[in-house]
Amino acid sequence: MKEILLKITSSKINYYLSLLTDLLTAVIFLSLSLYYSKDIFASLALFVVGVIFFTFLEYAVHAWLFHKNHPLKIFIEGHANHHRNPFSYDAMPFFMSLLIASVFAYLLHFIMPLPDALAIVGGMTLGYFNYGIMHHIMHRVEFKDGYWRYMQEFHFVHHKKPKMNHGVTTDIWDRVFGTYYVWSEEDLKGIEKLKRVDEKRPLKAIFDLI
Ligand SMILES: [Zn+2]
Ligand SMILES: [Zn+2]
Repeated sequence: MKEILLKITSSKINYYLSLLTDLLTAVIFLSLSLYYSKDIFASLALFVVGVIFFTFLEYAVHAWLFHKNHPLKIFIEGHANHHRNPFSYDAMPFFMSLLIASVFAYLLHFIMPLPDALAIVGGMTLGYFNYGIMHHIMHRVEFKDGYWRYMQEFHFVHHKKPKMNHGVTTDIWDRVFGTYYVWSEEDLKGIEKLKRVDEKRPLKAIFDLI
């Protein structure tokens, strides 16, 4: 059983299906929320709240579940695999984001109207998709400057210094919790290993077809 699960969670098809499920879940939850909502603008605002809240969750899980010592070793070991091999396809089974989002929305509906719960959780799922796709692209595209280059260096520094720079979509929470590391040119030595880029066939590089 463990072997089958490991085979699924490390397969390329599961990895790409997961990204698709994340996006579809966000779209479905937002659509349902807007359809049943009595106040569309409030629902859209809650959706944005969900996206923003996810950035905190992204930090919390990465910094405190993946990189702190605790008895739940499976999380630490699973994530260590990505640090060893940034191009591995480790991901939760593709249906998990839909399942977890449904459970979250179900629990939230006890304390707020269901359309509001769907909007918040839909926003969080979009945040999760954004995290997944940004992280994927960072390891496969050469960014020359600007925000993307900054976030790419920020994340690559995390690969070299795993106790620092945990954010992937934003650096805000590292600044809040004191794990923001100001890197130098010296720190960027060797980061080329963390990128798989083909200047002539950039799209093929993104989709791992090289
Ligand atoms: Zn990475
Ligand atoms: Zn990490």
